[in-house]
Amino acid sequence: MAPSSSKTANAPSASNFIRQIVEHDLAGGKHKSVRTRFPPEPNGYLHFGHAKSICLNFGLARDYGGVCHLRFDDTNPAKEEQEYVDSIIDAVRWLGFDWGEHRYFASDYFDRLYGFARNLVERGLAYVDSLTAEEIRAHRGTLTEHGRNSPYRDRSSQESLDLLEKMRKGEFPDGSHVLRAKINMQSGNINLRDPVMYRIRHAEHHRTGGAWRIYPSYDWAHGVSDAIERITHSLCTLEFEDHRPLYDWFNERLAEAGLLERPLPQQIEFARLNLTYVMLSKRRLIQLVDEGHVEGWDDPRMPTLVGARRRGYTPEGFRRFAERIGVAKADSWIEFSILEDCMREHLNEIAPRRIAVLDPLKLVIDNYPEGREELCETPNHPQKPDWGRRQASFSRELWIEREDYADVPPKGYFRLYPGNRVRLRYAYVIECIGYDKDTDTVHCKLFEDSRSGTPGADTYKVKGNIHWLSAKHAHAAEVRLYDRLFATPQPEGLGDLNPGSKKIVSVRLEPSLREAKAEERFQFERHGYFVADRADASVFNRTVTL
Ligand code: ATP
Ligand code: MG
Repeated sequence: MAPSSSKTANAPSASNFIRQIVEHDLAGGKHKSVRTRFPPEPNGYLHFGHAKSICLNFGLARDYGGVCHLRFDDTNPAKEEQEYVDSIIDAVRWLGFDWGEHRYFASDYFDRLYGFARNLVERGLAYVDSLTAEEIRAHRGTLTEHGRNSPYRDRSSQESLDLLEKMRKGEFPDGSHVLRAKINMQSGNINLRDPVMYRIRHAEHHRTGGAWRIYPSYDWAHGVSDAIERITHSLCTLEFEDHRPLYDWFNERLAEAGLLERPLPQQIEFARLNLTYVMLSKRRLIQLVDEGHVEGWDDPRMPTLVGARRRGYTPEGFRRFAERIGVAKADSWIEFSILEDCMREHLNEIAPRRIAVLDPLKLVIDNYPEGREELCETPNHPQKPDWGRRQASFSRELWIEREDYADVPPKGYFRLYPGNRVRLRYAYVIECIGYDKDTDTVHCKLFEDSRSGTPGADTYKVKGNIHWLSAKHAHAAEVRLYDRLFATPQPEGLGDLNPGSKKIVSVRLEPSLREAKAEERFQFERHGYFVADRADASVFNRTVTL
């Protein structure tokens, strides 16, 4: 029975069409265990779309007791750099996955690929074409028009072998010859019209240096690398659907010659992640960095994993997100708010509560003696009593949020305005006496018997409850308030950037935050989740609002 993507997905163990295929193959004995791979091209930093693919591939291996390989698809010498390899390794580890000993490079297989290509030439299944790139394009035909055979298509295997060897050694300039598979120029599938297997490139490769003067195409290298590694299920995004017959053609031809072992890997396509308010394409991300719209690959607004990390997003949040959105067979857009919800849910569980005043306004309690101080207890997490409580110093001069005071209260406003009472969280009830414009200060009086936790304190019925910091004890710090990078849900270009995506504010923080370590995460009460910046722990980045 062929696995299908129809809705038989109620079985908890096979909750999506890929799991159904995997379980079918394991149950039927096609494979004894699962072997997947994540195959990034080291030409950029990983983005949120890659996180989906990583969680999918490593998640399948984990759930079915198999392994997932990390394979660098480093077939393109010009664009690839060690910096990207290192950052990809970091990012996959950060997401919580482990490839064990299975870290590979497509360039590890250059020798074998070359041997395989020679075998295809010997069997009349590949040939060296000496048309120019432009002529090849003209011969390829279109979606509605068949292709035409190259005049070099029937040159002898021996001649092709000789030319291929000279190409490899660097005896010809770039573009003078290519190696092509001999499949079918009349095929309705353009990918099967004698696709290119090797191009001449006089370029240094980050791992093989100058050893090669020809480099394999993606279609040639990718599937064969999968088969060499005995990958069982090769998951890729939908745009490769039309490449699948070619993927199978290469592997079948090599398996029938005994060069690859069966069972061969099965390519399965799934919908790529499209996320609103960001752009997930390396080309766009490079443009954002190069043109200075952001401060680098790890700018907290970037939809890269290094950016997410600085932003304070968590690996658990990404894994939760990947679970929640699942995998589908058709492209769609996922709301950015779903990702934010996943982060919030996880941060709510792990982030201790702290007090920060983001837009400070001075408040003086006129009937509280100068020099007097006392300690108020505040919980580190309201739902987790075992996380304990900490002491907050209370004194005559406080910082409150500017928006917690109004000269003239708008309708439904329960915070401070002349004559109104509020509770200072975990401390006293105060009543506003007035606001002094010259010193930009709110004046209040306090009710001694209203202190939280003391008998009778709850006889004070107030509707507002605001946070505060003792001015003498709080310290000033920089906080960066990040918002969505693009202003439109489905951005079309950099013209759609959100000009207000980053605001730097000078704030007051409770004393304990002086000791925050890089990447430590907190909830600033009433404001959202924040993280101590990786590069400078005295600065806090807003991860997400509450
Ligand atoms: P981009 O489209 O941003 O240039 P890419 O596909 O070129 O990305 P690769 O390094 O080739 O990037 O991708 C590595 C793996 O990640 C591939 O298996 C690819 O299918 C997968 N991948 C890339 N983008 C997405 C996405 N938006 N959603 C899901 N998977 C993705
Ligand atoms: Mg790609």
